[in-house]
Amino acid sequence: MDQFHPPVKDMIFALREVVGRNDLQSNTGFTDFDREFLETIYDSAAEVASEIIAPTNKDGDRVGVSIADGKVTVPKGYAEAYDAYVDGGWSTLSCNPEYGGQGMPASISMPVNEMVMGANFSWAHLALLTNSAIRAVDAHASQELKDLYLERLISGKFTGTMNLTEPQAGSDLSVMNTIAQPNGDHFKITGQKIFITWGEHDLSENIVHLVLARLPNAPDGVKGISLFLVPKVKLNKDGSLGERNTLKAVSVEHKLGIHGCATCVMSFEEAEGFLIGEPNQGLVCMFTMMNDARIGVACESVAIAERAYQQAVNYAKDRVQGSTQVSNSRVTIINHPDVRRMILSMKSLIEIMRVLVYENTFECDLAESKPEHSKRADLLTPITKAWCSELCQDITSIALQVHGGMGYVEETGAAQHFRDARITTIYEGTTGIQANDLIGRKFIGDNGSGMNDLLNEIEKEIEVADIDAEMKDALNQAIDHARKVSSFILGNYQKEPNLPGACSHNFLMMMGYLVGGWIAVRNIAASKHALEESDDAQFYNAKIISSNFYIEQFLPLVSSFGSSAMHGSGSMMSMPDEQF
Ligand SMILES: Cc1cc2nc3c(=O)[nH]c(=O)nc-3n(C[C@H](O)[C@H](O)[C@H](O)COP(=O)(O)OP(=O)(O)OC[C@H]3O[C@@H](n4cnc5c(N)ncnc54)[C@H](O)[C@@H]3O)c2cc1C
Repeated sequence: MDQFHPPVKDMIFALREVVGRNDLQSNTGFTDFDREFLETIYDSAAEVASEIIAPTNKDGDRVGVSIADGKVTVPKGYAEAYDAYVDGGWSTLSCNPEYGGQGMPASISMPVNEMVMGANFSWAHLALLTNSAIRAVDAHASQELKDLYLERLISGKFTGTMNLTEPQAGSDLSVMNTIAQPNGDHFKITGQKIFITWGEHDLSENIVHLVLARLPNAPDGVKGISLFLVPKVKLNKDGSLGERNTLKAVSVEHKLGIHGCATCVMSFEEAEGFLIGEPNQGLVCMFTMMNDARIGVACESVAIAERAYQQAVNYAKDRVQGSTQVSNSRVTIINHPDVRRMILSMKSLIEIMRVLVYENTFECDLAESKPEHSKRADLLTPITKAWCSELCQDITSIALQVHGGMGYVEETGAAQHFRDARITTIYEGTTGIQANDLIGRKFIGDNGSGMNDLLNEIEKEIEVADIDAEMKDALNQAIDHARKVSSFILGNYQKEPNLPGACSHNFLMMMGYLVGGWIAVRNIAASKHALEESDDAQFYNAKIISSNFYIEQFLPLVSSFGSSAMHGSGSMMSMPDEQF
């Protein structure tokens, strides 16, 4: 049965006991960080997620969204779910208090995001993208635009979108050609955008489109792109809704998954828009939104993996099939070692992915007041986005496998998670683009210094960690391997121009599994510490077992990805195109 219960206890463990290491409060300046406070907010968010949002998930998939005359119809229950989310103030948690937000660090609201994404992944895109739009407007828009739009976005009266992609401009935005003509106090935006998530719907009073476009005579390439705020319905000076803007959804895409999410082709015909930030600085402004959304996609990956895992565990505890070497009677399949392997793989990976998402978000929170943290946040972001979304493919696939044939038919719901998850490695920058970012800008661009700092920190933590010697050896070998790969790339990329692109994926995956090992050690340390005070021994012992399992089963992948990276571009680039 496809039910969903947000794992509040695991979330608090990851955030407070592993990421926080008890210093969340002092570092973020946020005073309400005690366990009771977190339990109170997360328990109520979990209730909304499991009881109001989660039941809309199946209809979202089966019925999906449709469009007629530019009007998008959403599945049953979506409007009630949106009202419950907004009325409960869940959209406001980490937003600016000057405009009605609650001013909490983003790391505190991330578990709530995870809950709503796990509840209905398609629906939750609305909340996720609106949140990212709020950050971009807050960081870059003029005071006048902030006064008109921010409070309405934060309260959930309005929702936000991100309009980057055009048919010829996907990963490469330098060739986009939507134009913005100056017209008095505003601009006229003309062009077509594709794949725009929740580009049209009537769940909110208005939709605020953040659109990339070119000013006349703008320089070619990414240096000539500006960002505009283009409302679906224009606002009067007093903020009341005015006339409809000249933009519309032309169609919605028919997709492999996320059927309950309106992915629109948008047409802008001299639509009224307002510049955000400086002319030709659009990509810089949009990056505020994109970086936020990238960690958001990693969080989605944890959420959907968690939901698939919960369903697989329930099935494995229920389905009786065969017997084992240690039992003559028929057993539920969870007793078969190979099914156990699958389930423990899912559990251990999800626990580590969750900490990574929260850790990256925490580094972003810290960077707001301590700029030295932005280097770590920036280094982690492509790893978090790409590694978590790639693992999410494996986890939702394993969850389907646990169901056997019943996973392949639609009625169990396991197939939906597998289909829905597929998008996470594609949007907000594909895995290939994240890998380029990591190896190019974040590693070679900084001559390996940020990565070196990270490896040193991991090494120091391992030195003092309360883990056995064999485990320490395994982790130290993984670090040595990563250092070897780093020197190889830094020493050869100038001689071999295709090297960074050729080894970028393997480099990113190596870093993902290595950071995973670091988190496993921290999970073990936090659990051992908690065991001294807590009477919940089962919970913490289980965390130790799943972290040990990660180190045994997944840490070895550091050296296989690293070794592949060091083979460079030779075979990869030598075959002529005609031979494919
Ligand atoms: C369901 C859905 C929702 C979306 N939502 C939004 C949205 O709300 N707003 C929005 O603006 N866009 C949205 N997108 C668009 C999405 O961000 C793009 O699809 C994505 O960035 C990839 O661009 P593309 O599809 O043009 O693929 P391409 O750029 O054509 O890429 C094709 C392949 O080539 C690889 N590739 C391309 N360039 C390079 C390179 N330089 N180095 C290495 N590999 C490379 C890619 O990794 C990929 O594997 C959405 C897409 C989908 C499917």
